[in-house]
Amino acid sequence: MSVKVQKSDPKMHKRSIVFRWIVLLFVLLLMTLISIFHQYPDLVGRTLSIDSFCPMGGLEGLFSWIFQGSMLQRLALGSFILFFAVLLITLLYKRAFCGQICPLGTLQELLGSIGRKTIKKRVTTSSKTDRVFRLLKYLVLFGFVVGTWATGILLIRAFDPWVAYAHVFSLEEMFEFPIGLAILLISIVGALWVDRIFCKYLCPFGAFLGLLSPIGMYGIHRNTETCIDCKKCDHACPANIVVSQVEFVTDTECIMCNECINACPVENTLEIATKKRTLTSTPMKVTAISIIFMLLVAGAFTMTGHFKWFFPNTSTPYENQVLKNDVDDIRGFMTLRELSIGYGVPLEILMEEFASSPDDADTPVKDLGTKSEGHGTDFVREFIRNYRP
Ligand code: SF4
Ligand code: SF4
Repeated sequence: MSVKVQKSDPKMHKRSIVFRWIVLLFVLLLMTLISIFHQYPDLVGRTLSIDSFCPMGGLEGLFSWIFQGSMLQRLALGSFILFFAVLLITLLYKRAFCGQICPLGTLQELLGSIGRKTIKKRVTTSSKTDRVFRLLKYLVLFGFVVGTWATGILLIRAFDPWVAYAHVFSLEEMFEFPIGLAILLISIVGALWVDRIFCKYLCPFGAFLGLLSPIGMYGIHRNTETCIDCKKCDHACPANIVVSQVEFVTDTECIMCNECINACPVENTLEIATKKRTLTSTPMKVTAISIIFMLLVAGAFTMTGHFKWFFPNTSTPYENQVLKNDVDDIRGFMTLRELSIGYGVPLEILMEEFASSPDDADTPVKDLGTKSEGHGTDFVREFIRNYRP
């Protein structure tokens, strides 16, 4: 029996592509603003470190959080909240976080789309060497996660292109992470020739989600009866998966970006469905549910006070705020004067305890010498915790 083959609706595909790009750019812009506000606190207040907004931080800090009850430096509850939100998205749509939300992926896709239009000789197929190199990211995952669990230090920071990106907006701090910056530049420029080059070979969080992706409910399903074997899906796939050869995409490299579906010229030939096709979804739903879920979770926990965006205000005294400010939010860049204002401890008491010269009132506590040497920010934090009623 011949199956009727119908042309797919290009308008529908276009809507889905535009919607996905709106979401990707929205997240990139939001994260960029967070990075800028962290560097320039005078604008609207100092946002928390970029690590606190990265779900990978939740994975790295999981061991000490669960087994030692402590939070690694630079992480906040937000990292764990986002980490669990991503896990739930993964249960539904496999690696949709990579394809629909991740801003580092967006940066690479922006350059990738320029490369697709301007460079003829691009890497568009997956060779044996490519498959072997893709295993590298699992080593990166293992090394940094186990290393961080063992040492209690966020070892990835020096190499993290996303941390480097968060610092490029400040001339003073731009080169603070030279290795991360080099990886960022190689990833962005390299994406002109190889789609999502960092995601494919080095991203530890992509590797982690890849390990979980087999338990994700929905995936890309191909209807072999209507497929005309045009291979447009293969050319569109940034992960270089040969979609036209399989009935259900089980490759853990699939980032659920929907590009294959939007490239398919035949109606209902590629669709998002559970393995037995008992349930189906659409590209628009994958994008919408991923972003709504992240925003809902972050919003709900912001309202309960568990998800924090800003450090306590330590430059303007708030009569009723000082005792509410969380001592765990004290960071090394804060000065004794700011801590006095933000936490209600008289400056002369902090000076007596930690300063060795009058200039120390305006020196970041991490740079204070003599009296607090060997103790650093933790020592100041504990002192203020004990001082307050
Ligand atoms: S198979 Fe489709 S959804 Fe998966 S990465 Fe490739 S283009 Fe994106
Ligand atoms: S785009 Fe892929 S799935 Fe769609 S008709 Fe062409 S080969 Fe078949």
